[in-house]
Amino acid sequence: MLGPPGAGKGTQAKKIATRLGIPQLSTGDMLREAVASRSTSGLRAKHVMDRGELVPDDVVVSVVTDRIDHSDTAKGFVLDGFPRTVPQAEALDQELATRGIKLDAVLELEVDEDALLDRIRGRAEEAANNGERTRSDDNPEVFKTRLDVYRAQSAPVKSIDVVTEELAAALAKSSPHQVRSNS
Ligand code: ADP
Repeated sequence: MLGPPGAGKGTQAKKIATRLGIPQLSTGDMLREAVASRSTSGLRAKHVMDRGELVPDDVVVSVVTDRIDHSDTAKGFVLDGFPRTVPQAEALDQELATRGIKLDAVLELEVDEDALLDRIRGRAEEAANNGERTRSDDNPEVFKTRLDVYRAQSAPVKSIDVVTEELAAALAKSSPHQVRSNS
């Protein structure tokens, strides 16, 4: 499940995972748990997350692959918020291939950017009203960084896949002299 910050990836990934009876593997949640447990990697991740930047690829990849190796993923899993960079996507391809696992689908949530900031504000207000702790990165300043990081580092993950699909579809339909792509 891919999409910009505030798009509702977590909410939808959870619903889809429940319907399918498989676990939701959210890198954001796993990293926040690591932060809460005050482990060394958690404390390192906290600074990066509070700034709205990305935790290093090797850290996230090992968190995800360790989690995939738990027995509850035998029937499948929904990845939420991962991969978020091209190197993460490449590492995922490799790790899945090693385990003989095939990716069934890539879902991308597209949301108007103005609506995203409203949602982040709403999420922070709701947490405060419910007496829950507000996420330290759910504020307009850090959100701007999260959106910039998404555009620069995460959007290219999608583009590569989309372009590959377009090229593959073009190849499937056309004779060798007619292959074109609008990308
Ligand atoms: P959102 O998508 O709304 O920003 P997440 O819970 O998915 O929320 O992520 C929160 C933060 O956790 C990110 O800003 C980033 O610092 C870190 N994070 C989550 N997933 C990844 C990932 N795949 N790679 C690097 N950092 C990540």
